[in-house]
Amino acid sequence: MDSIVIIGAGAAGSVVAKKAVMNRGVFKKIHLASRTLSKCEKVQKETNGAVSISQVDADDSKQVIKLIEAQKPDLVINMALPYQDLAIMDACLATRVHYLDTANYEPKDVAKFEYRWQWAYQERFQKAGIMAVLGCGFDPGMTNIYCAYAQEKLFDEINFIDIVDCNAGDHGKSFATNFNPEINIREVTQRGKYWKEGKWIEIDPLSISKMIDYPGVGPKKSYLIYHEEEESLVKNIKGLKQIRFWMTFSDNYIKHLDVLQSVGMTRIDPIMYNGMEIIPLQFLKALLPEPSSLAENYTGKTSIGCIFQGKKNGKPVSCFIYNVCDHAETNREVGAQAVSYTTGVPALTGAMMMLKGIWKGQGVFNVEQLPPVPFLEEVAKQGLPWHTQQLDSGAQRDLLAA
Ligand code: NDP
Repeated sequence: MDSIVIIGAGAAGSVVAKKAVMNRGVFKKIHLASRTLSKCEKVQKETNGAVSISQVDADDSKQVIKLIEAQKPDLVINMALPYQDLAIMDACLATRVHYLDTANYEPKDVAKFEYRWQWAYQERFQKAGIMAVLGCGFDPGMTNIYCAYAQEKLFDEINFIDIVDCNAGDHGKSFATNFNPEINIREVTQRGKYWKEGKWIEIDPLSISKMIDYPGVGPKKSYLIYHEEEESLVKNIKGLKQIRFWMTFSDNYIKHLDVLQSVGMTRIDPIMYNGMEIIPLQFLKALLPEPSSLAENYTGKTSIGCIFQGKKNGKPVSCFIYNVCDHAETNREVGAQAVSYTTGVPALTGAMMMLKGIWKGQGVFNVEQLPPVPFLEEVAKQGLPWHTQQLDSGAQRDLLAA
């Protein structure tokens, strides 16, 4: 297996295409398809023609089937938006081709991302003898794989997980999102929740915050939000008592978001404007910078990881697994900012695991269900090394001190 179709030529999809070209020994045939052909043309030019391209509307399963029939890939890597997940999975089923994505499905009219729609494909993927790998970016993705590694190598049982996600970068714009603005704002403005002793506890959006000390970055104010990997990790990590997800937002980001929300610009229901229906958030997206345009002059680092507390040989153990990634370095390497890079490189590495037969199976898998060590060794070579720091007991409380 050595042939891929990448759908979505945005910020993260372009990273996947460029890194695939840099790994020609594994990816012999690379095809990039997206809604706007000019974005594919740009990547084709930047890779000196190493990638073939075409236009596709991946909301339409029939168009994706035609694309797959024409290109005959072994694997489709979905780097478009979560809205397209099911249409692309349907096309993979119809053509019996493996599937990988970085974000779980959500319907356009409800800002509610859940795995149940994609998990419902389990039997059909099993029967077709193909594999779907869900959520193989950084978070979800690397964070799930850190959990799988901790479970396999470092703990007998993991009781507490705090996933901590910091972007301490500066892109110099007054307001911009680091990945697709529509998906980002839908995620951040929904109610927060975390999981404790078998129950989901809901909170108002951005109503709980703490200072967290991030490696390579320092202390940053972080907000408790709901993030999709929590849903699969509560099923797949043994002995879990609590899982939370924390993300940094600057005061400037929160200020802009507050104003946009209060005037109705983040609404996802249609309103009438000049005799036509528009969705305010989609209009706002058209005004905001594209995430792919932020890379130049972006300074600072991302620092993302998982803090674990649990038991090994009957004794309490605590540790932190993380990666630090520099915006300027990723821009030098592939012309992308670190958020696109930390999404695209794990997707590329997951694809490598599938093509090489290291990740194999029939059905629908979250990444923590697949072997973590070969993935971590490869993703480090591809640009995202991981670090493990032992914490003394109570250190987690210090890290998360208010
Ligand atoms: P971008 O907006 O830069 O890219 C999305 C691309 O998908 C665009 O090129 C867009 O086309 C294309 N697209 C949208 N709709 C369709 C369609 N119907 N058919 C074909 N192509 C389509 O976003 P990012 O690259 O920053 O992010 C991509 C996705 O990756 C995010 O939405 C998010 O879900 C996921 N992500 C995952 C992360 C993780 O760690 N797991 C982190 C960050 C992002 P057009 O140019 O025409 O708009």
